[in-house]
Amino acid sequence: MSLPVCELKPGRDRSIRRRHPWIFSGALAFEPDAAPGDLVDVFSSQGEFLGRGAYNPNSQIRVRIFSFEDEEIDAEFFIRRLDAANKFRLTMLPENTNCYRACFADGDRIPGLIIDNYDGFIVLQFQTAAIEAQRHLVIEAIKSVFEPKSIYERSVGGFRQDEGLEKSSGLIDGIEPPDLIEVMENGFKVLVDAVAGQKTGMFLDQREARQQVRNLAEGKTVLNVFSYSGAFALAALVGKAQRVVNVDSSSKALDLAKRNYEINDFAVDDNDFIDSDAFEYLRNDESKFDIVILDPPAFCKSQAGIPKALRGYKEIIMQGLSRLNPSGLLFCFSCSGHIDSAMFQKVVFSAAFDVGKEVQILKKLGHGFDHPINIYHPEGEYLCGFIIHFSE
Ligand code: SAH
Repeated sequence: MSLPVCELKPGRDRSIRRRHPWIFSGALAFEPDAAPGDLVDVFSSQGEFLGRGAYNPNSQIRVRIFSFEDEEIDAEFFIRRLDAANKFRLTMLPENTNCYRACFADGDRIPGLIIDNYDGFIVLQFQTAAIEAQRHLVIEAIKSVFEPKSIYERSVGGFRQDEGLEKSSGLIDGIEPPDLIEVMENGFKVLVDAVAGQKTGMFLDQREARQQVRNLAEGKTVLNVFSYSGAFALAALVGKAQRVVNVDSSSKALDLAKRNYEINDFAVDDNDFIDSDAFEYLRNDESKFDIVILDPPAFCKSQAGIPKALRGYKEIIMQGLSRLNPSGLLFCFSCSGHIDSAMFQKVVFSAAFDVGKEVQILKKLGHGFDHPINIYHPEGEYLCGFIIHFSE
């Protein structure tokens, strides 16, 4: 069956020939006769087939490419892609870990599909009209590849709005997941609120950074700012930290953090869970720590928001540095996709310079291997971070 045709303007085929999966509105010679999410074939102005994707007139990204080959986009297609994505992850996942991102959208060449696997409970997001239109095939493929206990949808981020889609969540298949799914990350237990928690319930992207904290935590005092459910704190305590103080503005997140302490047999001291705006806390508290972790939410969601976001990062990094004991370590992160590692490093420079201390970058951090970056689609990278060493 032939699909509607998207013809590119002359000279606008360079990006797709370099396997970049996005075609912007300005590259199209004319709008195809297709509805949001419909599959289309993309041709050069010379009539050469360049790829097969899905069209969305409601987005500046008019076509998202599924394949650069002339292949059927059917359940088998999704099974092949998901199986490849899952297989390599399973060979690399650390021991005693049963939670991971099984599909990372363009990183795994499936535009807009996020699949998190929490011990067999699949929590997914359909982020684009392209993948929304394929949901039945995707669900069929997930059942075949993962044989999951359940498939639960949490398509709730702002990204759906950008694509002209409504929010959507609820059980798709299998048993209702428990209110809190218990998973294991590197040997410690974490409770995941897949139904009402932030994102799909857990920040899986920070697994490797948490492991770094764990390796450096012995005997140390730790301040864990933007703690969410305390996953960094658990890593630090498993690594024999002396004490961890968690700060978050969500009391629900802090309650979950306390429960996470309990199931791991760590004593809960209410003084170690501070329900506060992080900026307020950092401005007003003078206590010093050996390790400070700053893992805020994205401070900007668009290009226009970058300057304000940079000021926010600079402020918390300056405050974080001032909270450190001599020879302390600062773990600081940005998950704003519009801010890359080079830009973030400049923020650290500026903060260090203003605090007037000696600062070294010991290590650069980013998302784990289960959030792969498609080399042809560098926009997929969103998380960057540093381990900073600070001396007087
Ligand atoms: N480090 C966590 C993930 C952090 S997500 C982990 O490894 O699991 C960001 C957290 O920042 C969320 O829990 C959110 O509630 C919190 N948050 C957002 N704005 C905040 C603010 N202004 N002050 C304090 N916490 C904030």
